Amino acid sequence: MLCLSSKSDPRKNQILANLKDDAFELLKLHSSIIYLDKGTVICEAGDKADHVYFPHDGMVSLLAIMKNGQTVETSTVGRDGVIGAMVGLGHFISSVRAIVQLPMNVSRIPAARFRQATAKSKAIEWASIHYNEVLLSQTRILVACNTFHSIEKRFCRMLLRSADYSQGTSLRLTQEFMAQLLGVRRTSVTQVADRLQRMGFISLSRGLIHISNREALETLTCGCYQSLLKIAGPETLLWPGAVSPMAQASEMAVQRDVRGLGHETEVS
Ligand SMILES: [Zn+2]
Repeated sequence: MLCLSSKSDPRKNQILANLKDDAFELLKLHSSIIYLDKGTVICEAGDKADHVYFPHDGMVSLLAIMKNGQTVETSTVGRDGVIGAMVGLGHFISSVRAIVQLPMNVSRIPAARFRQATAKSKAIEWASIHYNEVLLSQTRILVACNTFHSIEKRFCRMLLRSADYSQGTSLRLTQEFMAQLLGVRRTSVTQVADRLQRMGFISLSRGLIHISNREALETLTCGCYQSLLKIAGPETLLWPGAVSPMAQASEMAVQRDVRGLGHETEVS
């Protein structure tokens, strides 16, 4: 479901919140705020990306799609990120399916308008490149996690990530959908979920997973959960031109480096 929404504040998105006013206004001018329901496919793998999305809340899963239809989650995006921003630098074709896992309000900007804004603002360009690196880092961790760690550890990691994004303990996640995200059989997810329920860590009802003991899930999961926390959060948003003091310090360091190399740079 997609509908217009005007009550959500774009600055809930951490990238937009960290842009200075001039860069923020460049994007706000051409953006509309819409509500996206769970299960909405924002972009299909192989499609031309026609919009850029800045979530205000909720969560999007980026899935790799195999030729036989199998899927696995390669990264997640919430209000800490952006979907499709590399169109600003000329990358138009999506390599993943972007599907809404937790309902959200988003600021949506047509790709052509976003490209124009990127050409005008070094800060927007830096933010796009920086967040793309965050997504790559997530993918590197999840490749290792999916290769080396048990389904149970990965199941717990996924529940904790979803709970963090939703800021709650009750998650509307079907086991079928979790199997698609984890890239495993539905029966494997059922076995893990039943075991965790018997241990009293979660409770299951139709389409709903309630986390009863978060600490226990944190103990059970792998170190990948903490690794993901470190790369996707406010402290990662340190591109030159951002508003935060840490980002401004980073900007000054970059400018010093560039001057040292005998070049000039423009940071808006
Ligand atoms: Zn892991």
